[in-house]
Amino acid sequence: MIRLQDYTGISPKADLQLIYKLSDRLSKKRFLHINSTKSGGGVAEILNRMTPLLDGLGLAVRWETIEGDQRFFSITKKIHNALQGLQEVFTDDMWAYHEAINAKNAETLDLDADVVFVHDPQPVPLIKFRRSGLWIWRCHIDVSNPVREVWERISTYAGSYDAAIFSVSKFAQQMSIDEFIITPTIDPLSDKNRDLTEAEVAEVADRFGIPRDKPTLLQVSRFDRFKDPNGVIRAYRLVKKYNDCRLVLAGSSATDDPEGDAVIREVKEFAGNDPDIHILLLPAFSDRDINALQRMATVVLQKSLKEGFGLTVTEAMWKGRPVIGGNVGGIPSQIISGVNGFLVNSEEGAAFRIRQILNDPAMAKGLGDNARQYVRNNFLITRQIRDYLFVWYAMLNRGRTVMEM
Ligand code: UDP
Repeated sequence: MIRLQDYTGISPKADLQLIYKLSDRLSKKRFLHINSTKSGGGVAEILNRMTPLLDGLGLAVRWETIEGDQRFFSITKKIHNALQGLQEVFTDDMWAYHEAINAKNAETLDLDADVVFVHDPQPVPLIKFRRSGLWIWRCHIDVSNPVREVWERISTYAGSYDAAIFSVSKFAQQMSIDEFIITPTIDPLSDKNRDLTEAEVAEVADRFGIPRDKPTLLQVSRFDRFKDPNGVIRAYRLVKKYNDCRLVLAGSSATDDPEGDAVIREVKEFAGNDPDIHILLLPAFSDRDINALQRMATVVLQKSLKEGFGLTVTEAMWKGRPVIGGNVGGIPSQIISGVNGFLVNSEEGAAFRIRQILNDPAMAKGLGDNARQYVRNNFLITRQIRDYLFVWYAMLNRGRTVMEM
């Protein structure tokens, strides 16, 4: 069982101290997380780790998920898309169904707690069935340019919470309730991020047939056009005129995404028969393989054209890699260009920065060292736990001065 002590020497000491102090003050209080899935996606991944950690600190933590049928989840998928700006058609019936399924869940779930964190839009109507405690809406998606009507519907629920938390300030909406910004984080002790031995990395390289004879460029991403895999290939080709290197594009074939297979076909066709381009289709649960790929890369790219927070950037930075990221979504919240990586706006820009890194190993090492340090200070799970506890504590003490808290 994972415990907070395990992060000693990895996470910043001040974060750990603050967590111990806050959890002491919140001791035995009941903390409830509610989302819509126990597996798959970053939210479930972090809750899986955070729940036992908080439990070990003496809080009474529960994590519940709402249940729904196919109709419910197809409606919530549309809500999710519309909140991110995609036009979708909604009927009053669909909204009524969204609320009715939440009402049904409210009958079976124990909603009694001192603080309830409701994650994302699927369970947001649960607020109507609040019995006790502080309720906080934790929005993980970018709602800065939503379909208006859909945001208005969602905010009739969200506006009844005590506070809302968004991941990046530019993803937020202005609301009448208290708002906080808490970025996502990674777990340095998970299989995806823990230290690996050189032998473990070599085994993965061998298994995927990647010779380690020349510098390797890597992008790990779902095969999605917004991740711009073909743009990465074009940047690699520009580099290849001057610097010999390999390119690894690794990602899942995303069985739930009909577009995914088409993108893979496009990418394979575009890559042609270049023996130095490796397209790896990763099965689910490839965490340790992703970890090893990131560790063997000379340069990691995340040349997205549109992005959420961009956790692959965080993961690669934690491994001390120089990362070149598209200047979109949460990537500029992580990369300070020229300090701990580079931000780019074009294929030519990406190629230029790749060459700069390949030609100057000392600079590459400096960027990578700064990247790891930046992630240590800002994007480890302990910082997120600290912030969640702090928001809760601050909300409980609303109206008091800091000295009185
Ligand atoms: N990932 C994975 N398998 C893949 C591709 C990505 O497990 O084939 C992981 C990746 O390591 C990261 C997450 O999925 O932890 C993707 O998060 P990110 O924020 O980068 O992008 P998203 O896919 O959510 O747009």
